[in-house]
Amino acid sequence: MSELVIPLPKSTTIPVANGGSFPVRRVYCIGRNYAAHSIEMGDNPDRDPPFFFQKNPDNLDASGEFPYPENSNDVHYEVEMAVALKSGGDSISVENALDHVFGYAPCLDMTRRDLQNAAKSKGRPWEVGKAFERSGPIGPLQSVADVGHPKQGRVELLVNGDVQQEGDLDQMIWKVPEMISYLSQYFELAAGDVIMSGTPAGVGPIIKGDLMVVNITGLNSLTVTVI
Ligand code: MN
Repeated sequence: MSELVIPLPKSTTIPVANGGSFPVRRVYCIGRNYAAHSIEMGDNPDRDPPFFFQKNPDNLDASGEFPYPENSNDVHYEVEMAVALKSGGDSISVENALDHVFGYAPCLDMTRRDLQNAAKSKGRPWEVGKAFERSGPIGPLQSVADVGHPKQGRVELLVNGDVQQEGDLDQMIWKVPEMISYLSQYFELAAGDVIMSGTPAGVGPIIKGDLMVVNITGLNSLTVTVI
């Protein structure tokens, strides 16, 4: 290989609960994957094909701190479960999809809602609302060997001790194997890809100083301070 003309950009890794770290390649996020959240965002929940957007790999952040970003006065939390892939491919069947999963982690899809809504109203892409610096706080990954494949169980977000979001993994409109299979029809998935699996109802704003705690049954908790 010829000599690099700038230093190799830093790659992003997520810590793994029992040791090691997981290098991130891409981050896919599903929209409107819990019926109650779909209704609160003004949609009819149904089995229309799912839609996805992306965050940047280096938006993921396991530091436990979320800096309130610039250019927004309405930053929202969205509690989600992240699915991390150890392999990929295209045209993955629903039946084989879980074979590609390395593990799971609690995460937050932090959103500059005012910028997202402005983009939506003009039919523009969502990046300014979704793919900003440190917009993906994430907890240590737990491997399938340790936690299996969580399919049901409570998902909740507490802000300063009060429950703001709650749901159950079994309320996902598109289940994890279906998401993997669907994505693989449009993109070539690969080891290092992370999928954020959508948020239950109750999204809302945070302010500096807030303490967010994500609890997903079967996984370790994630605690994030807004700074
Ligand atoms: Mn989301």
